[in-house]
Amino acid sequence: MRLSVTDRCDLRCRYCMPKEGVAWLGKEKLLTLEEQVRAVGTLVELGIERIKVTGGEPLLYPGLSALLERLSRLPLKDLSLTTNGMRLESMARSLRKAGLRRVTVSLDSMDEGRFKAVTRGGNFKKVWKGLMAAEEEGLTPLKINCVALRENRADVEELARLTLGHPWEVRFIEYMPVTASVRLERSEGVPPGEIRGALEEAFGKLEPVPGYAHAPSVDYRLPRALGKIGFISSVSCSFCPRCDRLRLSADGFLKLCMAHSDGLALKPLLQAGVSDAELREQILRAVFHKPEGHAFWFAAPAAGEAMSRIGG
Ligand code: SAM
Ligand code: SF4
Repeated sequence: MRLSVTDRCDLRCRYCMPKEGVAWLGKEKLLTLEEQVRAVGTLVELGIERIKVTGGEPLLYPGLSALLERLSRLPLKDLSLTTNGMRLESMARSLRKAGLRRVTVSLDSMDEGRFKAVTRGGNFKKVWKGLMAAEEEGLTPLKINCVALRENRADVEELARLTLGHPWEVRFIEYMPVTASVRLERSEGVPPGEIRGALEEAFGKLEPVPGYAHAPSVDYRLPRALGKIGFISSVSCSFCPRCDRLRLSADGFLKLCMAHSDGLALKPLLQAGVSDAELREQILRAVFHKPEGHAFWFAAPAAGEAMSRIGG
């Protein structure tokens, strides 16, 4: 399950948010700590085993440590967080102490200028220091996410090269047209097949690495590499048949699929003080309707939808 704790962000990545940002959710709409813990606890009772905390930018969320402390007491197989890394250097230690096990950091380029341009304000040096701090604190295995656009196509080999000397997983995510207002054409995203071809040309044949059966990424290793390369080909080679994901937004909407607006508004149920049995029943009914798949470019998500609200 991906748990979004805030819709706010300090960056405006080209593929995620328009330059002017998106309207923030009102504070009164957000789940309180107790509501978050109850909702997640119920989902864990129903079978959720792995939680990824996301945003917006989760490191901007003031209640993060308190929330992680509570989540870390649940019987989970994994508790991770995905971040743009801008505040990671100073926060890595406290996140670890609060019970976080590992982080995924978004890094679209190792070129300072291009990184700043794609993220509209990101600072490569800061993010790099954040990665180092996370590694030092043992928030591992580290994963790096890169959304490959034509704009940062030239960085793909350099990012993949990181896996030669570091036991990290560098994942190339296909651009998904979730936030309509970013106005990126499909042709501005780089198809995973093209990246794979470029990596094999530069480094040699990619060797498949078996992974978690329901993971969105298909993993490989470059010859003699310490780390892994992952492809998240959500659009061209949809992983829908093996998707077991749920998403809970910062305002408590249990979303069944990134590309569909169906789901269950948990905040009103929690505010009404429904019983545990009723909460479980409503969640199970909703999950039963998890869509079988998506067709992003043919049936685009609703106009007001924003990736920064969903959390990736
Ligand atoms: N702010 C945090 C970050 O950037 O890691 C967490 C939220 S962000 C929405 C989660 C992930 O979604 C990031 O790795 C980001 O690169 C990815 N993402 C955002 N917009 C995307 C898009 N349009 N297509 C594919 N991935 C996207
Ligand atoms: Fe912010 Fe993450 Fe979206 Fe970039 S991808 S704008 S860092 S939420």
